[in-house]
Amino acid sequence: MPNIIDGKAISAEIRRELAEKTQVFKEKNGFAPGLAVIIVGEDPASKVYVRNKHRACEEIGFTSFGYELPENTTEEELIALVEKLNHDNRVHGILVQLPLPRHLDEEKVLLTIDPRKDVDAFHPYNVGKIMIGNYDFLPCTPAGVMELLRRSHISVEGKECVVVGRSNIVGKPQAMLLLQANGTVTICHSRTKDLKEVCRRADILVAAIGKPEFFDASYIKEGAVVIDVGMNRRPADGKLCGDVDYASVAPHTSYITPVPGGVGPMTIAMLMQNTFTAAAKMGAK
Ligand code: NDP
Repeated sequence: MPNIIDGKAISAEIRRELAEKTQVFKEKNGFAPGLAVIIVGEDPASKVYVRNKHRACEEIGFTSFGYELPENTTEEELIALVEKLNHDNRVHGILVQLPLPRHLDEEKVLLTIDPRKDVDAFHPYNVGKIMIGNYDFLPCTPAGVMELLRRSHISVEGKECVVVGRSNIVGKPQAMLLLQANGTVTICHSRTKDLKEVCRRADILVAAIGKPEFFDASYIKEGAVVIDVGMNRRPADGKLCGDVDYASVAPHTSYITPVPGGVGPMTIAMLMQNTFTAAAKMGAK
């Protein structure tokens, strides 16, 4: 039987630890870490994510600043707001909820965020620091995966790690973090030949392709650790599912993350962790 990695419980534990640290931080410094979250438009999924972020701030004891901008906000208006928040010393983390409406240039907006407040770690300055292994923040989802491994006492050192997916927010930074943890890392993508063969070599397989239940047992080495980053709707019933066909894969693994309740809850915990780090670096005594 596999060990099921309980991301919900681990995320709650991290948030509890952060709440304790925040209490001490506030007593010492006289202010709370502050996170500003900007959302543009009416995307229902984004609204849920933003609400969860405010709730997490409240629970931990951070100050949260919410900005709900209308769909027709101009790039100049959005950039002006980011610049204002860059100079607001109550704000230690700035997050612009993606995706932005089409008429707004995401890259340009993200580049405006002060790298010291870039708690998503999407700014090229922070991406570069991750590449050289000298970073302040890590992108939340891959950092969450590393934390799940660490807290489940799964060592990466010397292991064959296969990351499927090469996006800037998940696959690439995930591979870099596994490399920094001394894994032997292979990155796969849509042009990879013999994907199944490569996946079958993995001691640790990270699936991040956004294809519902794509990986069945034939992709898995017996006893592997399987981390499912995917968050998809299953076409048959519209329910949330991962990139891994859990029922077929789980019996062949030593550890596996479920969807929901695996990687998903970690992302927000790591965002809170980054905000705390930013506040500690910028303003703490
Ligand atoms: P992207 O669509 O940006 O990237 C998908 C990657 O998967 C690409 O590199 C693509 O290759 C590769 N890919 C697609 N199909 C295949 C295939 N058949 N075989 C091999 N590789 C393939 O997605 P994201 O990285 O943003 O997200 C991936 C998944 O993770 C999604 O389900 C998303 O919802 C989820 N996610 C979950 C989060 C969480 O908090 N748990 C946070 C962020 C994302 P190529 O580059 O060649 O096109």
